[in-house]
Amino acid sequence: MNVELKNRKENFGRITVKVGSNVLTNDDGSLNTWRISRIVEDLAILYRNGIEVILVTSGAVAAGRSEITPSRKTSVVESRQILAAVGQVKLMSHYQYLFGKYGIPAGQVLATRESFMDRRHYLNMRNCIMAMLDNKIIPIVNENDTISVNELMFTDNDELSCLITSMMDCSSLIILTNVDGIYTGIPGDDGTELIREVRPDAEGIEQYIFSFRSEFGRGGMLTKYSNARRLASEGVRVFIANGLRDSIITDIVRGKDVPYTHFLPAGKRRNSVKKWIAHSATFARGVVVVNRGAKEALMGPKASSLLLVGVTRIEGSFKKGDIVRIIDEEGNSIGLGKSEYDSDKAIQNIGQKCSKPLVHYHYLVLNENAGVEPVVF
Ligand code: GLU
Repeated sequence: MNVELKNRKENFGRITVKVGSNVLTNDDGSLNTWRISRIVEDLAILYRNGIEVILVTSGAVAAGRSEITPSRKTSVVESRQILAAVGQVKLMSHYQYLFGKYGIPAGQVLATRESFMDRRHYLNMRNCIMAMLDNKIIPIVNENDTISVNELMFTDNDELSCLITSMMDCSSLIILTNVDGIYTGIPGDDGTELIREVRPDAEGIEQYIFSFRSEFGRGGMLTKYSNARRLASEGVRVFIANGLRDSIITDIVRGKDVPYTHFLPAGKRRNSVKKWIAHSATFARGVVVVNRGAKEALMGPKASSLLLVGVTRIEGSFKKGDIVRIIDEEGNSIGLGKSEYDSDKAIQNIGQKCSKPLVHYHYLVLNENAGVEPVVF
């Protein structure tokens, strides 16, 4: 056991490491097995030192490309599905073989957006990953690309890694990409510097982010950045670092002076129900418009539930237990909550005094914390 790393266990405890396609693939799109083996080696060191690791990996579609070529009559969506169907098995067998060399069992968890939208699915997934960790199995998570198509897809695996980090109460998320972090300009240009630290109240960082995407993955720096900010505001440390550098993961955990962008965590940590709701902004199925009185009550110093008497309009179709966005009459976002009613039932009772609130305050996350963009109609 490495004493230096053992001491860091207190700080890191359980972490998520996300590896993007641009780290795992060669220029021709095939899997870079040597790079994967270096990453596994790094993770094995953490594992042996008692740090729990959850790996979120891309690369299924890329791995499929070197195995099959979809016929011309296969649609774009189907091509991605079948490349992932073939490639995910290949990707996982690589990981299983490589972790196996260190005597570490690894297992696969495939997630879809639905897995996070439904609280029961969410808890099942959480329990499974928890049981894997308890049994010293490294969970390897990817999107289930065979059934996640179009609007059912995550924005990218950066979003998925944030959801997993939050769901599993990890102390930190390390996002590995093919650059050292966020720069103030084009890397290599005169005067361009790596942004080493992003404080929870930092402003104006977006201006430095260029909107190019990686060739083989879906993500870009902007989604990494916005997901990292949201997670850091929940009290999680986030690092964006270069997965093409050897030992980058252990170097970060050891606290070595290596290049990365570090998003410092805000002090507060939320309970898990509120975290689930806060991360569900993109899953919201309905919009609830509230009057001024209700808005003031919700935003006031006392914890208040949202009552139907304060609701003036309801949009969208949702079921009891779904997440709804709450906005004021000017269209400004107030927050998110879990609805206690189906939308039909709620619409019937708009403006009425019902004993059961539409959103109980235990299941309400106000905008200040929720990281929700203003709603535009
Ligand atoms: N899930 C996709 C894959 O494994 C990658 C998604 C992404 O690049 O973010 O191929």
